[in-house]
Amino acid sequence: MQEKGTISIHTENIFPIIKKFLYSDHEIFLRELVSNAVDATQKIKRLSSLGQFQGELGDLKVQVAFDEKAKTITITDRGLGMTADEIKKYINQIAFSGATEFVEKFKDAKDANELIGKFGLGFYSAFMVADKVEINTLSYQEGAEPARWICDGSTEFEITESDRSDRGTEIILHVNADSEEFLNQHKLQEILDKYCKFLPVPIQFGTKTESVEDGEDEEGKPKYKSVEVDNIINNPNPIWTKSPSELKDEDYIAFYKELYPFSEDPLFWIHLNVDYPFNLTGVLYFPKVKNDMEFQRNKIKLFSRQVFITDEVKDIVPEFLMLLHGVIDSPDIPLNVSRSFLQADSNVKKINNYITKKVADKLSELFNKDRKAFEEKWQDIGLFVKYGMISEDKFYDKAKDFALLGNTKKEFFTLDEYREKVKDVQTDKDGNVVYLYTVDASKQDSFIQSANRKDYDVLDMSSPLDNHFINQLEQKLEKTQLKRVDSDVADKLIKKDDAPAHVLTEDETTTVKSAFEKAISKANYKVEIESLNPDELPVSITQDEFMRRMKDMAQMGGGM
Ligand code: ADP
Ligand code: MG
Repeated sequence: MQEKGTISIHTENIFPIIKKFLYSDHEIFLRELVSNAVDATQKIKRLSSLGQFQGELGDLKVQVAFDEKAKTITITDRGLGMTADEIKKYINQIAFSGATEFVEKFKDAKDANELIGKFGLGFYSAFMVADKVEINTLSYQEGAEPARWICDGSTEFEITESDRSDRGTEIILHVNADSEEFLNQHKLQEILDKYCKFLPVPIQFGTKTESVEDGEDEEGKPKYKSVEVDNIINNPNPIWTKSPSELKDEDYIAFYKELYPFSEDPLFWIHLNVDYPFNLTGVLYFPKVKNDMEFQRNKIKLFSRQVFITDEVKDIVPEFLMLLHGVIDSPDIPLNVSRSFLQADSNVKKINNYITKKVADKLSELFNKDRKAFEEKWQDIGLFVKYGMISEDKFYDKAKDFALLGNTKKEFFTLDEYREKVKDVQTDKDGNVVYLYTVDASKQDSFIQSANRKDYDVLDMSSPLDNHFINQLEQKLEKTQLKRVDSDVADKLIKKDDAPAHVLTEDETTTVKSAFEKAISKANYKVEIESLNPDELPVSITQDEFMRRMKDMAQMGGGM
């Protein structure tokens, strides 16, 4: 059997175009070929379980190998294989038609990136790195003849007989001169780690040396010897594919460490699992927040059926949750995603809303189940919650029932509880409830003491986002103002049983006050004489709230 043919497409040579197009992403050829091998393996397993294939399944590992001298990379599977007719159909016609369409569209495309997103080039991505590609395959079907397909990247192909005796497919890439960087152990290992780490079938890349116990020495201590074992690069059963009921906390933490070696334990996690109206699984972790928030962004990995796609999840995960870690897997997200594609995709919007809701539900559950533990973690959790409340109204509405306000006495209140606590004590002349706060309790201790003496409560607003959170609360809460404890407002609050009269006469007060005012030359400060009682603070010096906040904003650099 020997056959030569021409692949029926109009563009003479599409491969130079494909190469040029996907230039930055050449390494994905391996993802495409290994995932095809995995697909073929999953198919034979299914045929076997349905009784449509009755032979031995045998060892179903997928193998990746390279030969530096021969300049080849080979991907071998023991999947269902293909007959010569199937090659013609699936490779020449179907796979090619995708590639052809790609090129047709490319001719008058304005935005090249947009196009890449809409076409999975699949098998043909092999030609990004290879001059010549061979398929050597034997179908599982009874009486099937092994077949070999060779194509040099032009529209000519050749099908010949093969001597393959194992069921399955071997793809041999004759690596081109520009792509020799891929004929390298570390490079291939790195690409496999990136894209194939959680594929559902074991993937072997060469062997590795392992030390195993080998009897005992004279003193009864275990002896070790080195053995060569298969280097399996993946974990075929990552936790997001399992049901939460079969998982323990240790499993989630171990998986976290697998994703992010050397990280601190996460605070908690959310196991995502939906099948309607879209398909999505995953685990999102709340990390322990470090000072450098930027450092932890973009850690969520996006998969499609356990194949890694990208860690650019900007449009899928709401902006305020970009600080989370973990994985999301959805077959409803196409393999070759581009930004503009994601933005336009309606599933992606639904996924985004779903994740927001799940996170809010989980936080609410933690709050209701164990408030004490929630309060203890608030330092860390609060950052996410406040960020969410500032940036998304929908999340604000959900979070307002479990978001906490902490005061300088380390007590925590929900927004409703806090209002109840201060509403009769801290109002201004217009009837607004005034929440007092400090941004640095150690520096403002005298003001806090003074406020506490008047039975006022002082909130601790010293965490990174509080400046913005304060503004948000003022906008959202009706008839409420937030004022710094050292602002002049703190003195003008009205409470039910007013403070005791000063012990000084009016004249005395004026004298002392002007003495202080002379000493403080700076404008915008205000001196108030409170008491001459030796264990109380006699004088308070305050600054206008508006001036204060302007200065804070300038220091924080405004943006977030
Ligand atoms: P897709 O995987 O999206 O179908 P590809 O271009 O990657 O597109 O592959 C085209 C087709 O070629 C596959 O659908 C499959 O039928 C066939 N194929 C590719 N690789 C293999 C393989 N290793 N074993 C069996 N069939 C394969
Ligand atoms: Mg494919």
